[in-house]
Amino acid sequence: MYHTDSILIIEDDFHIRRAVANALSETARTITEASTGREGIERAAVDHPDLIVLDLGLPDQEGIDVCRRLRSQSSAPIVVLSARHSDDEKVQLLNAGADDYVTKPFSIPEFVARVHAQLRRANLYGAADETTVLRVHDLMIDVSRRTVMRGEDSIHLTPVEWNILRVLVTQAGRTLTHRQIFHAAWGRSFGNPQQHLRVHVTHLRRKIERDPTSPEIIITEPGVGYRCELLP
Ligand code: CA
Repeated sequence: MYHTDSILIIEDDFHIRRAVANALSETARTITEASTGREGIERAAVDHPDLIVLDLGLPDQEGIDVCRRLRSQSSAPIVVLSARHSDDEKVQLLNAGADDYVTKPFSIPEFVARVHAQLRRANLYGAADETTVLRVHDLMIDVSRRTVMRGEDSIHLTPVEWNILRVLVTQAGRTLTHRQIFHAAWGRSFGNPQQHLRVHVTHLRRKIERDPTSPEIIITEPGVGYRCELLP
């Protein structure tokens, strides 16, 4: 029983490419491989893979540029393999459209779990329309009615709090950068997104978290942004 139809692996190192392909052999029915950025972009356009594994250190193009190109032509989750891992680079990658990143050397079970989490999210929310009612922990979030309930209790959110919660829950499991959340919540950029967000996320947590001092719904990714935990 495969998790999905097709996965594209873009990686120039033959041994890592083989290891990744083997690790995912029971995940996807078809696995295609590319060893350069150019080949990867071409394959993605032709094959329409359900998920793309992208190595950042490619011989012909900057990995982040490849990531941007892939995102401009596909909505498939992109899981990046990277030897580097500064917060700045994570932010750049996520803003370029990556969905998750795994730092080399990585453990195969951890990597496969990350890929499965992305496929689960894409299946759950890829087709989500405005009528969807989402369950996150003990909250019921009705996206079309803009209501949040815990049991019988309705929770009142301000428009900004609602926008922040909405973007996080509809992309649950994915780390969103401060800038991405800010843009979705305000529709424009001004000032310091990190500071503005921190204030509103604090208010939001007081309303929706059981214990706002140890959040279970809105998780902080230090230096990067926030993520809504997706339950297995
Ligand atoms: Ca490489």
